[in-house]
Formats: sequence, C-alpha cells, structure tokens
Amino acid sequence: MPRAIRSLRVLTPDGFRPATIHIDQGRISRLSDESPEALGDDTVDLGSLVVMPGLVDTHVHINEPGRTDWEGFATATRAAAAGGVTTLLDMPLNSVPATTSVAALAEKAAAARGKTWVDVGFIGGVVPGNAAALGDLARAGVLAFKCFMVPSGVSEFEHVTESDLREAMPMLADLGLPLMVHAELPNPIEAATLEATAGDPTLYATYLASRPAAAEHEAVATVIRLAELSGARVHIVHVSSAATATIVAHARARAVRISAETCPHYLYFSNADVPNGATEYKCAPPIRDAANRDALWSALERGDLEMIVSDHSPCPPILKRRDVGDFFVAWGGIASLQLGASITWTLMHARGLGLERLAEWMSHVPARLAGLGARKGRIAPGYDADLVVFDPDAERTITPEMLLHRHPVTPYLGATLRGLVDATYVRGELAYSRRHGPAASPPGGLLLPSHS
Ligand SMILES: [Zn+2]
Repeated sequence: MPRAIRSLRVLTPDGFRPATIHIDQGRISRLSDESPEALGDDTVDLGSLVVMPGLVDTHVHINEPGRTDWEGFATATRAAAAGGVTTLLDMPLNSVPATTSVAALAEKAAAARGKTWVDVGFIGGVVPGNAAALGDLARAGVLAFKCFMVPSGVSEFEHVTESDLREAMPMLADLGLPLMVHAELPNPIEAATLEATAGDPTLYATYLASRPAAAEHEAVATVIRLAELSGARVHIVHVSSAATATIVAHARARAVRISAETCPHYLYFSNADVPNGATEYKCAPPIRDAANRDALWSALERGDLEMIVSDHSPCPPILKRRDVGDFFVAWGGIASLQLGASITWTLMHARGLGLERLAEWMSHVPARLAGLGARKGRIAPGYDADLVVFDPDAERTITPEMLLHRHPVTPYLGATLRGLVDATYVRGELAYSRRHGPAASPPGGLLLPSHS
C-alpha cells in the first residue's frame, strides 16, 4: 500500500489542485504540497492524471446467492473497480433469498465475504408482510431500503401497495434510513400494455408505448404524499421521465424529504437509438425520446436530479431472448457498472461540464444517500482513501473482451467513450490498474457493523 499519492490534478472539495494525498491505515491523513522525491519509495507519482474520489454506485444488482449465474460478487466488484467505483450498494432483489430478512442478509454477507474488490453495502427489501423485519434489518446494517410499486420481475420480491407503504414508511422514518422506490404504478402500464400488445413485440416503440411516463409520474405523486404523511426519507430510483424530476423538485421545495437519481442509459440513448429486436436496451422504466433525454440533462444541471448510478442489472444472454428479439419476454436490465464514469464523462465533456460535477453526481451525493457522507465521496482528511485515477482525454471503443462482469452483454458495445480509468484504490489499496487489471486478491470489505 502506498503511503502517499501525488498528482498535479487532485479533485479536492475546493476544486482541482496539485496535491500529495497522505494515506495512513486506509484513510487520508492529510493533503500536502510535498514532492514525491522528498517522500521516498512508497509514493506514487501520477503526473497530471486526474485523481478523483472513487465513485459510489448505490444501485447495483449482484444476484448472488441464488442467481450467481447472472452475476456475482467477484465479477461485479472487479467490473466496479475497473470502472472507478470504490463503493457499491447491492440491491435486495434478484438474489435468492431476497434481502427481506436478517437471515437473508446473513446469507448474502456470507456469499460476499472475501470476494469483493470494492467496498459493498447492502439494501434491505420492503415487501408485503415484512414490516416486522425492518427494524432488525436496520440494526443488522442495511444502509437503505428498497421497494417496488409494480411487479419486480421476480416472484420472490413482491411489489408493495399503498397500504403496505402506509405501514412501513413511519417505521423507516423512525429508523432514519431512506426508502429507495421503483416508482411506476401498475394500472397505467396494464392499460397501455393491453393496447400495445396488438403491435409488433420486436419493435422498441411497442415496448415503449407499454410503459407510459404517466405510470412514473403517478407513482411519484403517491410516494410524495406518503412521505409527507410519514416523514420518511424517500429516494426515487432510475428516473426516466424529465417531468418526474420537476415533480420531485417541487416536493423538495415544500420540505418533503425526497431525492432522485437517473442512470447513464437514460442520458446516453434515446428511443431512436434502439434497433429492432435489440433487447439489450430493455429496462424499466424505458429509455424515452431525445427531447426527454435533453430535459434529463437540464434537470441534473438545475439540481432537480441529484445523482447518477448504474442500475447494473445483468442476466445470462439467453434470458435477453435476442433469438426472438421480443421486448416483452426479454429480461429487463442494462449492464453498465464498469462504464458509468466513461459514459457520463463522454456526454458531460460534450456539454462543457466539468469533472467536479461528475464527482458530485457519482460519488459525493450517492455516498450521502447511503449514510456514508462523512467517510466516502471526498478527497479530504479523515475520509477513506478511495481514489480513482482518471485520464479524461483518452478514448476507447467498447469490446466484449474489456468487460469484467459475468456476461459481456451491454448496449454500449461498439460505443467510443471518453475517459479511462487508469487505477482504482480502495482504502489505499490498489484494486485495479489499467496495465495489470484487477488486483490478485480482493481489497474490498463489507459495510456492515463489526458484530455481524
Ligand atoms: Zn434496479
């Protein structure tokens, strides 16, 4: 482990400056102007490469245990490290068991232990009938909760109704943990799907028509009402419609405790980019039109949307049903954990936005959401030495061979992206380097209380 890392372009809370980051027992002890020569052998001199706080991705589906053939802790966290992500939160569903009880959390932690190249925290599930487990899950160390307002796609993680939320949300308010909400309502989707099924299921337009933005807007309005009643802190995941961001911003202005994220795929693609039968683009809510995409960018710049996370949700290629190209039978979910920084930076660079905002959207704000704001997401004394070394000017074209998650399926294949992760440090230890790939042994840990 290096004792110090030096660069001419270190992103501190006050902006970029030349700095030497001194590391002691995995933490940043101080920043100085000391030269590498004065510090000796265990200093890494990075020249003018950018050093930013490691990214914090609070929306990742790892699927282990139970669906480890879809994705697993080792493969996902190696991909994360290669993408400059130093902390991720694992979603409670798609693994079996789903993380809806303390016993399930223990199984998940056992599956993850010793296999994580980055730090991993866990999210508990809110499902019908598990209200009694929420307090125990919080005490066992989940950093947030997650619920679905529409069917989730897997039978072991049922979606909640308004009455389930009325029971759970006051408890979450007392526990002081945020509730992440997949905000789409079933009724508008069921009605639109009935109409859409007359269309060709291999056309993206047919799928898009089946998941109207109104389903998202109505769900968010419900969440806001319940958050106001309960005082719970809520967070809208994967906002696809720019109008949702405005609804959220108005609620926040009334002091509702609400925030919202969007994902790289809503910012990079539009419906016009999706070829017929290209089910690797399928996600829910869906990728919408180009005007909406531009409005999502404006919402980020205004601060109505506060963060960008991957919603990395892979599956075995067969479940994408590329053979038939049917958007309705294909598994929904886009894999991009390794690429988020580059995708976002490519677009930000084109818009004249700086890396300071990328670090805010992809590191500091998600760290705060996860309750890790005093420990992660900043290059400052006292913070974990979670660092990404980034070359913002390099470009590369994405090939399957580059991808470290379990199945190299992603709609970004063939895309030319700007910004390359040169190295990633997790609590001062090298987790990934461009030259050597992932470290031989995993430096990550589990963000759980020490008694568990
Ligand atoms: Zn998700």
